[in-house]
Amino acid sequence: FSAADQPTNSNVQVVVRVRPPNQREHEQGYKKAAAVDAAAQTLTLSVTPFARSFKFDYVADEDVGQEDIFQRVGKPITDACLQGYHCCLIAYGQTGAGKTFTMEGSFELFFCFVFGYARIFRFVNCFTTIPYSAFVQIYNEQVQDLLDPDSAHLNIREDTKNGMYVDGLQEVVVPSAEATYGVFRRGSQNRHVGMTAMNIESSRSHSVFTLVVESQRVVGGVMNRKTSRFYLVDLAGSERQKYSETIGIRLKEAGSINKSLSALGNVIKALVDISEGKVRHVPYRDSKLTFLLKDALGGNSKCTLIANVSPADKNGEETLSTLKFAQRAKLM
Ligand code: ADP
Ligand code: MG
Repeated sequence: FSAADQPTNSNVQVVVRVRPPNQREHEQGYKKAAAVDAAAQTLTLSVTPFARSFKFDYVADEDVGQEDIFQRVGKPITDACLQGYHCCLIAYGQTGAGKTFTMEGSFELFFCFVFGYARIFRFVNCFTTIPYSAFVQIYNEQVQDLLDPDSAHLNIREDTKNGMYVDGLQEVVVPSAEATYGVFRRGSQNRHVGMTAMNIESSRSHSVFTLVVESQRVVGGVMNRKTSRFYLVDLAGSERQKYSETIGIRLKEAGSINKSLSALGNVIKALVDISEGKVRHVPYRDSKLTFLLKDALGGNSKCTLIANVSPADKNGEETLSTLKFAQRAKLM
């Protein structure tokens, strides 16, 4: 099996991050099952009786910190966004694998970077502004505004000129990196409180933070104006639900999560086929998540998927399923 020789879809970058073992894993007789070869960007997963290697654009071992992840993963996609591409950064993996940790660490650095960049660019024929941010969660195929938690469920619509938007969504003006991070914290808090009140774990919903970036630059004496959107997506846990737990609301929940995660996989797969020259229908409408992210997944866009995994052999099966999903996003 040689992943390295396979053709790849360059609009989609796939990164794997292994987190350090936690207390519980240590208590349960921790054995490391995920071995990273940083030079080759491969990860070898050893789950008895086999070992299997996967190659990605970047594999980060447990000792790689937030700043390095940002430099290696966050910064290139932020650059692309400032150049006018719609972008998305998506965290995938089982609950507890480090999705939120990774996204929140990136957020803080990302906002500082974007605003720092905007300031620098004002001096050179280019004016970059961040007009507003927005924050939604998708739970059971329903879109809720995290900045206006009392509002009704919202609809995703498509506008031929401006692309995808959420009808009636609050858009909060953000004058600085600190203000943007404040908006993010407020939405996260609402997510947490709302989910607790409904007796649901926040790991059962997807959250999508949007930042709109507008840039104006003079090209050949003509003012060129571009608006791009940056989506930061913290997905619901990818773990399969146990039968004993999948009754009633949990069954519906599990169905919705499976639906949107497999829709995401199918959309990415279809885009890979198109980049190969095959004619394909891209099933964006199969889930709210893929429909909302349509502009940032396909066409003139950049997408980075971060697959978060536990290092422990006890989680080997879930890790294998996460790596397979991640690999499918990259290879034919
Ligand atoms: P998820 O969002 O995927 O459910 P979390 O991001 O909440 O997982 O991570 C679970 C726990 O592991 C948290 O306490 C978090 O701080 C810790 N953690 C995750 N990734 C790392 C990491 N790379 N380094 C240190 N701690 C981490
Ligand atoms: Mg989380």
